[in-house]
Amino acid sequence: MTPILYIVIPCYNEEAVLPITAPLFLKKIQDLSAAGKISEDSRILFVNDGSRDQTWQIICSLAEQDRHYIGIAQSRNRGHQNAVFAGLMEAKDRCDITISIDCDGQDDINAMDQMVDAYLNGYDVVYGVRSSRETDSFFKRFTAQSFYKVLSAMGAEVVYNHADYRLMSARVLKEFANFREVNLYLRGMVPLVGFPSTTVTYSRAERIAGESHYPLKKMLGLAADGITSLSVKPLRMITSFGVFVAVISFIGCLWALITAICGKAVPGWASTTCIVCFVSGVQLVSLGIIGEYIGKIYMETKDRPRYIISERTKDFPKPGKDSCL
Ligand code: UDP
Ligand code: MG
Repeated sequence: MTPILYIVIPCYNEEAVLPITAPLFLKKIQDLSAAGKISEDSRILFVNDGSRDQTWQIICSLAEQDRHYIGIAQSRNRGHQNAVFAGLMEAKDRCDITISIDCDGQDDINAMDQMVDAYLNGYDVVYGVRSSRETDSFFKRFTAQSFYKVLSAMGAEVVYNHADYRLMSARVLKEFANFREVNLYLRGMVPLVGFPSTTVTYSRAERIAGESHYPLKKMLGLAADGITSLSVKPLRMITSFGVFVAVISFIGCLWALITAICGKAVPGWASTTCIVCFVSGVQLVSLGIIGEYIGKIYMETKDRPRYIISERTKDFPKPGKDSCL
């Protein structure tokens, strides 16, 4: 039996690009099923992430036109990671494989062929990896690459140059659903689930239309989430740094005492000021880092739902697909 594929596509204010890219996804599903690689029952699952424009209306009219298009709407904007997660969780009981991809045409749709081939050859997770970042601005390229370096220095396992273009099998998603955290950093969490995985490289194009929703502030937020949800190394670094500062301070005290005993004590304004500034700076930064983690714990203990669906397109498939594996 050929596997059922669900292409999961988060959409936030994408009215400019959706009418252009939706037919490309449909063509891909049709080509793959004509080639006998996936089932006719495969679907394109749009997740409307609380868009303020006509995105949901477009999704509904697509669903009217062709049964391969289906959609869910989140009750409000929750961000890219939650939107992808909502789509994956809704898809997992209805299909054998999912591929998550952005709706702006930046990720090469043709890489899906190789992803499905890899699945048919026994891989449960296939990461789409960008072969180059030429279409990104120098700034985006530089910040993204520094981020991967920081993450791996922190001991977190992430696939280099992989965003959220990825194939996952239903059995991986079922295990993934047991990762209960509310702070989602999908690309860092998926490798933790395990199962055979491989990569497929593709070149990333420019956005076909519309604007990026990842300004610097959001990118920094995602980076901070990535680090704090995957690693506790920053906390350990604070401890090590604390020990280092304590040793220096001890030497400083000795020096001050000896100077005083020898009667050579000078007014000492500069040294006192430097030490006070330095130590208070270190303390504030350390408190900030600890605060980040406490904030995470606070959010986790609330155990709030990770996504809330307010609407579905008509004829939305019922759950209960028995995996063909
Ligand atoms: N997106 C979303 N919710 C958001 C922001 C973005 O679902 O709050 C979607 C967006 O519609 C797109 C994908 O996430 O399909 C990636 O966003 P974008 O292309 O703006 O990011 P970039 O490629 O510039 O990093
Ligand atoms: Mg994009």
